[in-house]
Amino acid sequence: MKREISLEAFTDGKLYTKNDMVKVGCGDCRDCCDCCQGMGDSIVLDPYDIHQLTTNLHLPLEELLSRYLALHVVDGIILPSIKLVSAQAMVNAGSEIAADSMQAVEVCPFLNHMGRCSIHTFRPGFCRLFPLGRYYVNGTFQYILQNHECPKENKTKIKVQKWLGISNLRSYENFVNIWHYFLVDMEALLETSQDEAEKKTLNLYLLNTFFKTSYSTNDFYGEFQERLTKAKSILL
Ligand code: SF4
Ligand code: SF4
Repeated sequence: MKREISLEAFTDGKLYTKNDMVKVGCGDCRDCCDCCQGMGDSIVLDPYDIHQLTTNLHLPLEELLSRYLALHVVDGIILPSIKLVSAQAMVNAGSEIAADSMQAVEVCPFLNHMGRCSIHTFRPGFCRLFPLGRYYVNGTFQYILQNHECPKENKTKIKVQKWLGISNLRSYENFVNIWHYFLVDMEALLETSQDEAEKKTLNLYLLNTFFKTSYSTNDFYGEFQERLTKAKSILL
C-alpha cells in the first residue's frame, strides 16, 4: 500500500539497509499483541507470502480465502490480505489473552490463545517488517522506522536483517522490489483503461498467474521471475 506523505511525519527520518542497526527490539513482544489486532485489511500479501501460507498450512489459496484471507482492491489491483475475525469469537473460544490484551473489535485469525502468532516462522512480510516499513524510490527501496507504531518502551537496537529473520534475504529483497514496481506498472495500465470488463480480466490474470497457481517448493524466486517475464511480454 502506497503512502505519499513526508517521511518526517511518521518516521525517525532515517533510511536503513539490511545491514543497519535499528531500534526495534521489543523483548520478543512479551505480553503484547497490539499490532495483530484492529489493523483492518492493511496486511496485504504478496506471492511469496501466499506461497509460504499454502505450503506450510497445506491449504490451497481457495481454502485460505474461505478461512483466513480476503481479496481487496489496492490501488486498483485485486490483492489478498489477512481477514480479521471477531475478538468476541476468540473470547468465546476461551482465549487466555482476551481479557487484558484484546482492545480491538477484530483480531488476526492467526493469533493463538496465548496472544502469540501461530504462523510465526512463515508469517507475512508486513508482519516481519513491523514497525519497519519500506520506502520505494528510483527503482529500489530502503527501510524506514515508523515512530509511533510499536508502543513498547526502551527498545533495543537490532540489525535489520536479523529483525526480518528471512533466509536468502538478497533474493527476497530483489523479489519484493520487482513485485512492487510491477504492481506500479499494472496500476498505470489499469488506469488507462475505461473498460471494466478489461480491468476484471487483467486482475483475474494477475491473481491466477501470481497467487492461485502454486509454485515449486524449491525455487520460488526462479519460478516467480519466469512468470513475471511472461506476464510483462503479454501485458507491457
Ligand atoms: S506492537 Fe510491538 S511489542 Fe507489541 S506485538 Fe507488535 S511489535 Fe511486538
Ligand atoms: S500473521 Fe501473525 S504476526 Fe501477522 S498479524 Fe497475524 S498473528 Fe500477528
